Amino acid sequence: MNKSERTAIEPRREENYSEWYLQVIKAADLAENSEVRGCMVIKPWGFAIWENIRINLDRMFKETGHQNAYFPIFIPLHFFEKEAEHIEGFAKECAVVTHSRLETNEQGKLEPSGELTEPYIVRPTSETIIGASFARWVNSYRDLPLLINQWANIVRWEMRTRLFLRTTEFLWQEGHTVHETEEDAMIETLRMLDIYAKFAQEYLAIPAIKGEKTESEKFPGAVNTYCIEAMMQDKKALQCGTSHFLGQNFARASNIRFQNREGEFQYAWTTSWGVSTRLIGALIMTHSDDNGLVLPPKIAPAHIAIIPIYRNEQEREMVLQLANKLNNELRQAEFEGIPIITELDDRYLTSSERNWYWIKKGIPLRIEIGPRDIPTHSVIIFRRDENPKDKHRVMIDEVLKYCKTTLEEMQNHIFQKAKEFREQNTVKIDNKEEFYRYFTPKNAEEPEIHGGFAHSHWCGNPLCEEKIKEELKVTIRCIPLEAEKEEGKCIYCGQPSSQRAIFAKAY
Ligand SMILES: [Zn+2]
Repeated sequence: MNKSERTAIEPRREENYSEWYLQVIKAADLAENSEVRGCMVIKPWGFAIWENIRINLDRMFKETGHQNAYFPIFIPLHFFEKEAEHIEGFAKECAVVTHSRLETNEQGKLEPSGELTEPYIVRPTSETIIGASFARWVNSYRDLPLLINQWANIVRWEMRTRLFLRTTEFLWQEGHTVHETEEDAMIETLRMLDIYAKFAQEYLAIPAIKGEKTESEKFPGAVNTYCIEAMMQDKKALQCGTSHFLGQNFARASNIRFQNREGEFQYAWTTSWGVSTRLIGALIMTHSDDNGLVLPPKIAPAHIAIIPIYRNEQEREMVLQLANKLNNELRQAEFEGIPIITELDDRYLTSSERNWYWIKKGIPLRIEIGPRDIPTHSVIIFRRDENPKDKHRVMIDEVLKYCKTTLEEMQNHIFQKAKEFREQNTVKIDNKEEFYRYFTPKNAEEPEIHGGFAHSHWCGNPLCEEKIKEELKVTIRCIPLEAEKEEGKCIYCGQPSSQRAIFAKAY
């Protein structure tokens, strides 16, 4: 894009990526900071995106045999103490409830009263409280598998927060399942990882890499943690979802035992998996541009803005008649099984103001209808994935077909674009010096623009991983599942390695 060309979002991505991110959220009116430090208010356009995420994922969970349930937001402290690694992992970010009421003191001020005999933790994740129910629900191998999901809010007391990416309270889903055998639990863990990757690709248009976390990055208390990782436009990685194989650790902690086929009691095998409102952050940072939000049509809260343009009452009647006709026609249509949602924007604003309003909100298509279009039996259509000035003149009879085809095409185009960007910024590196150069800012004024994903060998020693993190702020995002095994030498210490890991800076 020409430097002198004005963009709707200031600063641009290349000028200040993190500020650009916040300005896109503001311009699209997705969310705002609240009076409660670190907690966000999700506004209607942002929440509608979350609802679309929820509806589609929920359907995918149910298609694979899961049911929804709901468990308490409070977890008794002693539940948490049962799994040592788990408490250690979450202890520093827990909100703790210690009192049950307020009383007015002698100075006339309200203060907490009624101290609880045992404090409650506001759930940072629900393995332990759900485990207590599962211990009652599971008695025999006939009760298994038990496949439960919960849509809920979570609290993790974060010191540094960013809208959608890291907030003290956030929304998520957490799946919790119980299995008869280790093998069944592992199949479930990987099945859910596949669902996350498929959802990210097909709905969010985010190409995600499936992989396994290293020991130091795994979920506290898990045996293995698997994840999907995606590249944002600043070339940093964002973890978009995780699926944990918990072995028998949480079954032991919560006493989830069952009578097996031999009539003996044994501990069950469990899994947990989750994605959160962080996915909206991923969506923004993967696709949006210097004019604001860009939404893949399949996840957009609305698909087409119809913008009537007129100068007087006579034109108004004529233009609105056509606008209403097209609106009704489009609203009864679908693309890829999704009902088309339209917004007829007849507000008392200039056409430019209305156009830019929808550009910044990321609506996929805009249809302009003016008095001069009527004699030509055509309208002007704009695509959000093109330059805002690029017009397509479409005959009125063809509008419906054009919109359906274009929405499908855009979904695919947005995905391909993100995939190409990742591929262009991914390299294999086998030389330590080159590795260090790759992750060092090229220019002191652009400290965030650097490197990308490096596929490099790692010997498996946590010390090498730690050193790289310390020296470069680069972590192993995952050991990719779909990569070939290959002999090589650790990028840090030179010891033999049997596989490459993905190294990157991350959110
Ligand atoms: Zn090493």
